[in-house]
Amino acid sequence: MAERGTVTTVVESAAVVTLDPHRREFTTGHVVVQGNQIVAVGAGPAPAYEGARVVDGRGCVVTPGFVNTHQHLYQWVTRGLVPDAGLFRWLTTLYPAWAGIDEESVHVAATGALGQLALTGCTTAFDHHYVFPRDGGDLLGAEIRAAAEVGLRFHPSRGSMDLSEKDGGLPPDSVVQDRDEILLATEAAIDRWHDPSFGSMLQVAVAPCSPFSVTTELLREAAGLARRRGVRLHTHLAETTDESAWCADRFSCTPAEYAESVGWLGPDVWFAHGIHFTDADLKQLASTGTGVAHCPSSNARLGAGIARTADLRAAGVPVGLGVDGAASNEAGSLLEELRHAVLFARARGGPESLTVRAALEMATLEGARLLGRSHEIGSLEPGKLADLALWRLDTLPHAGITDPVAALVLGAPPPLQLLLVNGQPVVENNHLVRVDESAVATQVARTQQALLAKAG
Ligand code: ZN
Repeated sequence: MAERGTVTTVVESAAVVTLDPHRREFTTGHVVVQGNQIVAVGAGPAPAYEGARVVDGRGCVVTPGFVNTHQHLYQWVTRGLVPDAGLFRWLTTLYPAWAGIDEESVHVAATGALGQLALTGCTTAFDHHYVFPRDGGDLLGAEIRAAAEVGLRFHPSRGSMDLSEKDGGLPPDSVVQDRDEILLATEAAIDRWHDPSFGSMLQVAVAPCSPFSVTTELLREAAGLARRRGVRLHTHLAETTDESAWCADRFSCTPAEYAESVGWLGPDVWFAHGIHFTDADLKQLASTGTGVAHCPSSNARLGAGIARTADLRAAGVPVGLGVDGAASNEAGSLLEELRHAVLFARARGGPESLTVRAALEMATLEGARLLGRSHEIGSLEPGKLADLALWRLDTLPHAGITDPVAALVLGAPPPLQLLLVNGQPVVENNHLVRVDESAVATQVARTQQALLAKAG
């Protein structure tokens, strides 16, 4: 228990949704934070702690901070392009613009994208970065700097592409790299940045881009490297019927069977999208503990389909949520993904397919599980890290809705009163605390314009 006088923040008189093992919820309760950890959660008022900041949570609900399990931060400066195409045409149109990214543009894009994630309840962000132009500079370093500036817990990945058009892949030659160069750079990123300790603000994953942009050899060797170094593995899988056809044609199997053949199933692996899985695929994923990052908005934007969220969960597959890159989800709002997950699951499978509380669980605990952090984040419990969101539900869009989870998931995005990451405020009164939002907006617009001019 906390010593009196050492408590730093007390959230008082809020509805509390804990996501603890008993899924306790309090109509009026408190959360007590000491340093970077939660030390007490309960009903009614908290004891008085001398010197602590007391946050009045009346009219609000406090939830665990959200975990974003799939994103491409650099895409924040290529938004609104190719608004009406499917994945393969969208990709081949955007590759030339992405070939021009560098440290500065990635830093600006990451600041914008991470800022929007924070404003929509995200406290831990994963990023899948796989475009490394020859003279691009230190792109992972640029996004890591942005995450520290915005204040989020960050899981960047060293992604890659080594299968270009000339070898039957989708990307042009200018954006792919040599396999040995990729593996060396990936290991160097782990050496430089990966911090596995409790409370870590920075952990690195290994993340080749997708079956149709990466060689079989790279997938195999990337899995070997990740396991040797004890880090997690991520890639896109089963996103479109084009990809299923590509795998059938080239390997005579489904994308999931292909992943299995190269050692890519296990509790340390999670796939983005996972829309076109067969029943047999679901069983394999569940039995191996392999996870899925569900990205409903991006999937709808590209007309890729609706993932079998209810079936995945019923089979026992861990499913988190992701906004995906902003070039295919201009909103970049993690809160919106909860709503879309519920709506699309029900549109596909009927009214009982996904509850509002299941969507909240996917955005918090399940996302934490995909990143290997569920012992540290994803619920409000004593001993866990102080990553929490305090949402205001007493204004026009939500006033009168008595179930705070229904208000949060089904209603309009509510004002975010407070976002704590590692015990520190990142959002207050619906604004970022540490970076100037309007300055970032100006830089984003200027950077996008320059990038498009460079691409011709
Ligand atoms: Zn993606």
